[in-house]
Amino acid sequence: MTQFTRRQFLAGLGAGGMSLFTPKYLYDLTKGASLEKRITVIRKGREDLPHVSLTFDDCWYEDITLQLATAFAERDQKVTFFPAGVAIRANIDRPTEGHDNLYLRLYEMGHEFGCHTFTHPDITDLTTRRLIWWEIQPWIDVLNEALGFEYTPVAFRPPYGIVTSALYDALARFDMPLVLWSADVGDISCTPQYCQDELSGRMSRVAKNGAILLQHTTAPSVEFVDAQLDILRELGLENVLLSQMLSALNEGETTDG
Ligand SMILES: [Zn+2]
Repeated sequence: MTQFTRRQFLAGLGAGGMSLFTPKYLYDLTKGASLEKRITVIRKGREDLPHVSLTFDDCWYEDITLQLATAFAERDQKVTFFPAGVAIRANIDRPTEGHDNLYLRLYEMGHEFGCHTFTHPDITDLTTRRLIWWEIQPWIDVLNEALGFEYTPVAFRPPYGIVTSALYDALARFDMPLVLWSADVGDISCTPQYCQDELSGRMSRVAKNGAILLQHTTAPSVEFVDAQLDILRELGLENVLLSQMLSALNEGETTDG
């Protein structure tokens, strides 16, 4: 093997015009490229199964979150919540009357949780380091504190559905699939007096095999519980937890080779 001096080696690579010697660049090049391949954005489950997954983001209001969770539990339905970490923190520090241990209560009803960042920021300009240490790890820590045991989050969902390469890099350090949604049912944007009609219309159009449906913990979504379950029933669809949908997706991939 030819021995190059360090100077010759540098000169040779320098001719390509790329600063491959910067450790950071090398790091990003190798890690970033492989990570983006490994992590994929999931927007739906298997289309050969009559399953939809109802998911609810944010959990800003404890009373509404509890009403929603209770309404589903009373109808024998389990759903997936993506609370912001600050909402969980607020419930630990100063729960409103009658809402102590909210997250443990939701867990005991059979519902499950995904990470929706700690402060619910627009993550467009956040670095990998910031995402890990200010948004994801603090969310995991605060949920564990709320539940009193180590919980494995079902997925990660970025606020506003914003996905960046820094996020891919950050998520590679956690065992959480990146899940967005196949359709936003629209509880935040509906016209107040027509919300229920608008939500029913939209739900009928977007509920189908493998749909991951986005709603939020809002008053319209609480009122919409019965109607949406009726719509699903009429369409021959079953609501399943997001974790079930994701495991079916994995099984499907294995079977398909
Ligand atoms: Zn959100």
